[in-house]
Amino acid sequence: MKKKISISLLPGDGIGKEISLEAKKVFTWLTKKLKMEIDLYEDLVGGAAIDAYGTPLSDQTLNKIKKTDAIILGAVGGPKWENLDFEQRPERGLLRIRKELDLFANFRPAIVFDSLVQSSTLKTEVIEGLDILIIRELTGGIYFGQPRGIEKIDHNNSKGINTLVYTTHEIRRIAEVAFETAMSRSKRLCSVDKANVLESTELWRKIMIETSEKFPEVKLSHMYVDNAAMQLVRNPKQFDVIVTTNMFGDILSDCASMLTGSLGMLPSASIGISKDGRKNAMYEPVHGSAPDIAGKGIANPLAMILSIGMMFKYSFSNENIFKIINNSVNSILEKGFRTKDISSDKTIEISTSEMGDKVLEELNNEKI
Ligand code: NAD
Repeated sequence: MKKKISISLLPGDGIGKEISLEAKKVFTWLTKKLKMEIDLYEDLVGGAAIDAYGTPLSDQTLNKIKKTDAIILGAVGGPKWENLDFEQRPERGLLRIRKELDLFANFRPAIVFDSLVQSSTLKTEVIEGLDILIIRELTGGIYFGQPRGIEKIDHNNSKGINTLVYTTHEIRRIAEVAFETAMSRSKRLCSVDKANVLESTELWRKIMIETSEKFPEVKLSHMYVDNAAMQLVRNPKQFDVIVTTNMFGDILSDCASMLTGSLGMLPSASIGISKDGRKNAMYEPVHGSAPDIAGKGIANPLAMILSIGMMFKYSFSNENIFKIINNSVNSILEKGFRTKDISSDKTIEISTSEMGDKVLEELNNEKI
């Protein structure tokens, strides 16, 4: 890990601002306790940027964050900006970062903490000890393919068009990321497609098989998406790393998130490699800006804090920080402390900022 690292913090809107305050506590801890040199650049994105700069992501912000080693974002959006044109909405800021930094690989782990087993709607034996990772292709496929739109056929009939397209290049780069990730875990990779009916995913499967030749230690399997959806709920522990297309990944990762029982606990990473070989990365909780609870001090900051762990693992190859953050979160939950979203009558309910303080207490107890 290099001596001095630069990180962009984009709190965004709603609870994004509240959970970012807790993330800052962790960065301060890393600086003070571990003597890390962290250059933290903070700026606005989403609705907050619309209000201040007139756009959800200013060119100036984009240029600044592009130069930092990693980005962490809270969440964007809210009712205040819902009536703006599609192109001017807060979410466009987020999409622009993904596009401009070519963040083609989205990592969504679904980990069930032992103390939260009861929060899932599934049986304990199905999800206990679950630790799987879904890698979703993020910048191609049906969400971006051309042509697209709604066209008039005649005076009372129109057609909606989207195009599912994948190039060899797009598939190969996500395949390589997935195989490398599988190498660092159990060396099992399941590629999810619909190769029996969609030619674009027939190509997907072909390139996955070709890429597997470079990674002979990884056991590659294939599954059709309809079966994968069923298997994720029936027996999720059969998987370790799943790699799939943009739309299939969107759906399967939300399905997997419910295995863990809470949206407030799920971190994510989006990674791209620029032409000069530089790794670009943005980390963010899976959840949104939660306008229904914003400003009440009850948001769960753990997804944001776990996203910092992912940042140290994937951007700075520092597995140690990743582990101590995860261990700290686990210890807090084991001691019964919970924010409102995951609390029950047998646990101790605490606020967003108290949860941030608990994380620091536990980090101080960790052996570094
Ligand atoms: P949401 O994820 O914001 O909220 C869904 C539900 O989960 C709400 O009841 C909320 O209170 C709860 N929740 C979410 N995160 C929580 C946390 N950390 N702690 C406790 N409870 C939590 O989804 P939504 O309500 O559909 O969307 C609200 C806004 O967020 C919209 O403007 C949407 O466009 C935006 N959004 C942004 C992102 C992002 O920035 N990545 C992602 C999804 C939605």
